[in-house]
Amino acid sequence: MASCKWCGESGWLLRVSDNGMCDTCESTQVPMIVRQVQIVQESQRLVESGKTLQTRVGRCDDIIRITGELILYEERGITVLNPPPSVLRSQYVKEREDIVTEHLKAEAQKILTRAELKATPRSAIAEATKAVIKIGEARNEYDVDNPALDELEHLVRRFLHQTELKGYLTEAEKAEFKGNNKKAIDQLQEALFFLKNDKIVDELQSSQIKEIEEKILQLTAV
Ligand SMILES: [Zn+2]
Repeated sequence: MASCKWCGESGWLLRVSDNGMCDTCESTQVPMIVRQVQIVQESQRLVESGKTLQTRVGRCDDIIRITGELILYEERGITVLNPPPSVLRSQYVKEREDIVTEHLKAEAQKILTRAELKATPRSAIAEATKAVIKIGEARNEYDVDNPALDELEHLVRRFLHQTELKGYLTEAEKAEFKGNNKKAIDQLQEALFFLKNDKIVDELQSSQIKEIEEKILQLTAV
C-alpha cells in the first residue's frame, strides 16, 4: 500500500511520486522546496564571494534558517538537497564562525601593526584597545564563541600589557639617565604596582618584580 511521506495519507489507489509524496503534497510542497533550494544555492555563492562581513554572515544565517526548515522533509525520508539539510546546516554553522573569526584576526593584525608604529606607549595602547573593542562587539553582534577568538583577544591583551609595562620602564630609564632619580623611582613604582595588580599571577612575573624592586633599592641608596 502506498503512503505519502509528507502528509501520511495511504491507500491502495494513492499515487505517490518519486519523492514519495501524493499528488496534493507534490503540487504544494515541491514549488516551495525548489524556491528554498534556490535561495540556499544562491546564498552559498554569496557566502564565498560576498564583499562585506555582513553579507557573508547574513547569507550563512539564511542557509542555517532554511536548512532548518528543510530538515522536516529529510526527517520524513524526502530527499530535497545533497548534502542533506542537516549536514549542510552544521557546515554553515561552522563556516559562519570561521568567517567571523578570520575577519577579526585580519582586523586585529592590522590594528596591532598600526599600534606598533605609534610613537608613544599611550597612543599604542589607545590603538590596540580598538582591537579588544572590535572583538567584543563581534562576539555580541554575531553571537560567536570560538576558542580562536579567545586566543586572539589574549594576544591583543598581552600586547597591551607589555606596551604599558615598557612605557613605565622606558620613562624610568630616561629619568635615571637625566639624573632624576626621584622620577625614575616613581616610574618603577608605577611598573611595580601595574605588575602586582594585573590579571597575571605574580609568581609568573616574580623575576621581573624582583628586578624592579632591586632597581628601586639601588636608586634609593644613591
Ligand atoms: Zn501527501
